[in-house]
Amino acid sequence: MLHVPAMWMLLACAGGAAKSSPLHVDTVAARAVLPAAVPDAAARHRAVGSESSRYAVPSTADIAQALERDPASLGSLSLGRPNLGALVNAAHMESAKPWEVVSPSTAWATAETIAFLERAITHVSERHPGAHRLHIGDLSREHGGPIRPHLSHQSGRDADIGYYYLPGSEGWYQNASERTLDRTRSWALVRALVTETDAELILIDQRVQRLLYEEALASGEDAAWLDTLFGFRKKHPEPLIRHAYGHRTHIHVRFFNPRAQALAAQAYEALHTRGLVTPRRLAGRRLDGRRLDGRRASGVAQKPLPGSSADVLARLRAALPKNVVPRVSTSAIPPRRLPPAHPGAVAAARATPQLAPEQ
Ligand SMILES: [Zn+2]
Repeated sequence: MLHVPAMWMLLACAGGAAKSSPLHVDTVAARAVLPAAVPDAAARHRAVGSESSRYAVPSTADIAQALERDPASLGSLSLGRPNLGALVNAAHMESAKPWEVVSPSTAWATAETIAFLERAITHVSERHPGAHRLHIGDLSREHGGPIRPHLSHQSGRDADIGYYYLPGSEGWYQNASERTLDRTRSWALVRALVTETDAELILIDQRVQRLLYEEALASGEDAAWLDTLFGFRKKHPEPLIRHAYGHRTHIHVRFFNPRAQALAAQAYEALHTRGLVTPRRLAGRRLDGRRLDGRRASGVAQKPLPGSSADVLARLRAALPKNVVPRVSTSAIPPRRLPPAHPGAVAAARATPQLAPEQ
C-alpha cells in the first residue's frame, strides 16, 4: 500500500530527469493537482474510487476550467486502455547515469510511470553499484495511441526495459541466458518493480523467469511468495510475472497509475464534450446528423464554450491521436505483493525500546 506522502516523494524523484513541453507536465508540476490557476481547488477535491481515495482528484468543474486555461496544470492523464488509449500531459524520460533511453521519441509516459521506473532502477544501482546503464526501450508516443510494433504502450503505462547482463554481453535487446544474464541485478530489478512500484504486469520469457527464480530462492527469498510472482511455476492463478514470446531480450512492465487513471476517468466527460476523445459507442456513427470521424470526433464539441480558450483546446485536439478511446472507470488498485516480513526484522522491531512521549 502506498500512501499519499510516499507517492509525492516518489513523483518528486523523477523531477531531475523528466522534462516538460507546453502540453506536457513535468513530474514536479504533476505533484500540484491544480495550482493557482483554479483558486480554492484543494478545498473542492474529492476522492474517486475506493483505493484511489489515497489520491485527491479535482472536481469535474475544476478539470473543465483547467482544460480550457492550462491543461498542463492537471498533470498526466492515462486515457482508455493500454491497447486502446491516449496520453495527455506526458512526461519525457531522459537518460541519466543509471539508465540510457534508447529511443527518445518514444520515451513518453505518465509522470507516475517514469517515477516508478526511475525508482526501481535507482534501487538497483544503489544496492549493486558498478552495473552498466539499464536500457530503456519504448514507452509511449508523446500523445499515446498506436505505436509499432506494439499492441499496447498506448496510454503511458507500459515500458520495455532491458535486463542487466554480465560484462561483455551488455547491450540493448541481447538474449538473456545462463551465460549472459546478470542474475543478481536482474532479480534486484524485478524485485524492486514488484515491491517499490505499482506494477500491474511483468512479461518475461519463462527461461529467464527460471534463472531469476533460482537466483531469488538462493538469496533466501520466501518460496511461497515467489510462487505468487513467477508464472512459470504454475502455482498461482494470477502471477504477476508472465511468459510472453519475445521477452527473452527485454522486460515489459505495465504499471497501475493510481493518479493518472483516476484523473482520466474523472476528466473523460469534459474531454469528450470538447472533442478531445471519441467514445467507442459513438465511433463512426451519426449524432445530430454529423458524421463522427477523426476530424469531427464529437458532434457536440464544435461550439465554443463560455470562457474557453480556443487556442488551448485546438492545440490539444490536434495533438491527440484520432483513435477511439474508451471510457474506463477507476477500479481499485490491488495492494502490492510484498514478501512476508523477515522474522529477524520483526524481532528487532519488537526489541526496540519505546521512546517516552515528550513532555
Ligand atoms: Zn512492451
